[in-house]
Order: sequence, then C-alpha cells, then structure tokens
Amino acid sequence: MQSITLGDVNVARVIEYEGTTRAPEAMFTDVAPQAWEEHRSWLAPDYWDVEAGLLRSCVQTWVLRSGGATILIDTGVGDAKERPAMAAFHRLNTGYLSRLQAAGVAPEDVDVVVNTHLHADHVGWNTRLVDGEWIPTFPNAQYLFPRADYEFWNPANSYRRRMEVANQNVFEDSVVPVVQAGQAVLWDESHVIDANMRLVATPGHTPGSSVVEVASGTDRAVFVGDLLHNPVQVVEPDCNSCFCEDEEAARASRRRVLGQAADEGKLVFPAHLRGGRPAMVVQRSGAKFSVQSWAPLEATV
Ligand SMILES: [Zn+2]
Repeated sequence: MQSITLGDVNVARVIEYEGTTRAPEAMFTDVAPQAWEEHRSWLAPDYWDVEAGLLRSCVQTWVLRSGGATILIDTGVGDAKERPAMAAFHRLNTGYLSRLQAAGVAPEDVDVVVNTHLHADHVGWNTRLVDGEWIPTFPNAQYLFPRADYEFWNPANSYRRRMEVANQNVFEDSVVPVVQAGQAVLWDESHVIDANMRLVATPGHTPGSSVVEVASGTDRAVFVGDLLHNPVQVVEPDCNSCFCEDEEAARASRRRVLGQAADEGKLVFPAHLRGGRPAMVVQRSGAKFSVQSWAPLEATV
C-alpha cells in the first residue's frame, strides 16, 4: 500500500533514513528485561535487532493531503546540520528532498509544516543551507511551532534543558530562520489546521510536545510524534524513552492519548516506526494497552 486514506485525507510517508539506534535498556531504562522477551515475537525484527542488541528506527515525514493542501508532519534531521553531540544527525546528506519530490511534493507545494516538538530529528528540513545561510525549505508554508517548546528551547531563556547538548544549534538553524522569514505561527493548547485535523498539546516528552488529531468522515487517526518511540510503549505505557523531559507528564499524556485512541478506534501513527507496519489500532488490555491490528504502508522512496 503506497498511502492510507482517512476520509478526505490521504496519508503517505517519506523516509529520511533508517537504521539501528540504541540498546533497548539504554533507550527505555524502565522496561523490564522480561517485557522485552514477552513481546519479542512482534517487536523483532521490525523494531528490534535482537542479534545486534539494538533497537531499529527511522526518521520520516508524514505527508498529508487534505482539502487541496499539503501538510508535512515533522521534518527529520536535515542535511548539513552541525550536530557535534549527536553523530547520527551530524552533517547528513540523505537525498530527502528527491524522495519528497518522488512522492509528488516540491518544496513550494507545501502549505503547512507541523513540528510535533522541537527536537533535532523533527525540525531539520524546516531549513536548508543556501550560500552559507539557513533559509526555510518550504517558501510558501506556514510553520506551526508549539509555543511551550519555542520558549523552552530558546537559548535566551534559562530553563533547564535535559537535552540541551543533544539539541545544540537546533533552535538557531532550524527555528529562528523560519521566524525571521515571517512564516512561523506559535500555538498554545490547540490549533485547528483545517476542517479535518487539529493540533493538541500533549506535554511531557518535551514541554510543547503535541499530537495531530484527524477526524474525517467516520475515520479517526492521531499522529503522536515521540509520545511512542517504540511500540513497546503501547504494552508498557508508563515507560518513557531516555529523551522524555518530564517523566510524569509524559506518562500521563501517553495514557490519555492511547486511551482515547483505544476508545475511539483511532489509527495511531508514531514518528519513528520503520518497516511495513508504521501505524496501529490499539485496544485496552487491563490497565495497559495492546496492538489490535496494524496498518501497512510502503515507504515512498
Ligand atoms: Zn524523535
């Protein structure tokens, strides 16, 4: 399947890159070893390379077409970004824009860019390097930034930032140029994107972390960003990734979003699920959740 249709909304994806990341116990310090074993049959090999002892992940953009508009959810790491503290993100050259073009999207076609939060792997293609300057990649787009993240990651503010080193340079090269171009919109609790979708604040992973809710016809979906880094967090909803800033808020947001998804039959699209099963329907399972079914989707390459 090349794309998924939800009411009047078409959903495709463009992969920036994929590969192995961290060891399960390093990425999720509070998932018990027994839980990994119990769920190994469906977590491996798509999301877990057992032989290598590493999780498998991808960085991708969800491309939504709705009412004649093109909406991108998250823009990956970007090319040529200086990320000295994160080797996997440092000075990439991935061919992402060609794959976006192959999916039928030229930069000038994009109407709305959603950054679910302002981590390095969600804002990178907001900008590209032209003649030594970072300029917005999508010249006609409105970029939607969660205000809480905009404030949190702004170096002019003095908040404690757990990921400050890993997120080095991100605000300066991927956020500020968009603001300077007059293309940024800061939003607070929620933001209506169009008749089919809206942004809702789900703080915890970062203060401004958010989800995109789609409701079109009888179809429902939610794009959850890094609320779920790996599907193990469906069966262990209280387990955070090592990148979650506010542990309690992250758990509460994850439980709330998963509960609504289970009760309303929403298709759940996390940011980083690689392979042919990038989205799922979840169900309540006692005090936790489980995957009821998967929605298949080929990558657009
Ligand atoms: Zn991420």
